[in-house]
Amino acid sequence: MVAIEELKKLKLNRLLEQLEKIKGRGTELISLYIPFGRAVSLVINDLYEEYSTASNIKDRVTRHHVLNALVTIIQKLKLYREIPPNGLVIFCGAIAKPDDPPGSEKINIFEIEPIEPISTYLYRCNDHFHLDILKDMLKEKAVFGLIAIDREEATFALLKGNKIEILDNITSGVPGKHRAGGQSARRFERIIEEMAHEFYKRVGEYASKYFLNTPNLKGIIIGGPGPTKKEFYDGNYLHYQLKSKILGIVDIGYADESGIYELVYRCDDLLKDVALIEETKNMQEFLEKLAKSSDDVAYGFDDVIKYLENGSVEKVLVSSNLDLFIMEMRCINCGYKDIVKVEQIKINELESQGSKCKVCGGTMKVSASKHVIEYLKELADKTRTDIKLISSNIGEGKELLNSFGGIAAILRYVHK
Ligand SMILES: [Zn+2]
Repeated sequence: MVAIEELKKLKLNRLLEQLEKIKGRGTELISLYIPFGRAVSLVINDLYEEYSTASNIKDRVTRHHVLNALVTIIQKLKLYREIPPNGLVIFCGAIAKPDDPPGSEKINIFEIEPIEPISTYLYRCNDHFHLDILKDMLKEKAVFGLIAIDREEATFALLKGNKIEILDNITSGVPGKHRAGGQSARRFERIIEEMAHEFYKRVGEYASKYFLNTPNLKGIIIGGPGPTKKEFYDGNYLHYQLKSKILGIVDIGYADESGIYELVYRCDDLLKDVALIEETKNMQEFLEKLAKSSDDVAYGFDDVIKYLENGSVEKVLVSSNLDLFIMEMRCINCGYKDIVKVEQIKINELESQGSKCKVCGGTMKVSASKHVIEYLKELADKTRTDIKLISSNIGEGKELLNSFGGIAAILRYVHK
């Protein structure tokens, strides 16, 4: 099931995309980040100070816009008794509709309760909104295990989002090769091979200790100079659960902490691809089933809804780029209800004009609206069906959007 968190992320992402496009005509767009615990009255005092500073802005229109925005924020804040647990983010400014002439800007305010707690107080007035802190919350929080290894040492680390956490460094005590010649050389070589074997065993144990119980561990990457890393990997020193998570074996210069940083730098693309692999797998499963028999799958909004309602869907695949809204219409005359799906850009039109009732010919008005993913999720939850979001970053994701109406389903059993 798509977690509530996923849905919140999706909504936030959509809003951020919208806010990102907004440019102020001057330095007049206000971004305000307030962490939990800060007294609302103190924030309002700050804003009054900003107000008196802004009164000195030379450009008449900019000044007017900034002052108006500040007043709007202050009025909004007065409705809060305290800042919500994750903090509060407000964006406010004079925004023009795309085709409207200059001077027709209207003050818009956006209040966001972030999906993760914010820790810093920030006030900015600029020609754009400051979205980076919120954007960071949307980044993949997958965790990766990292091992840098050579004959002398091994370093263990975790990569969480953008943060590298160095866990440990152990040394082998294995002396360098080729110190003596003749008979003693062979004996010496046997000894160091034995020592290397013991060292690899120890590296395997440390890997288990650090990685086996790490929640959300999406993969492990091994790096190091020379052939040691491959010897370690081939020798089955890693717990089988960890070995199945190996994403790559990479050549790097060192096996110490600097090796870990190099490993992350080298694997940037590899790490980004991981989230897409699962999406690709799901889409391929759908396409393979479709190729065999169209009885095992469904696609398009109406068909998928039909199967969802009778509980025969195993998995719903939805394009995360699908911008469709499900509007519930209700006749103001006879009460007849109907459901229509519309693109986001047509919502305003439908809301202002309504539609014609099929039963009595009266006017139908919008009584509720939901994003299609939210709508699908509610239906899917009732029948314990999985929803998988598929981005258009992969070829199959584009195919889902363009060839299958953005919605596809893998069915639980064959329907005749
Ligand atoms: Zn009617």
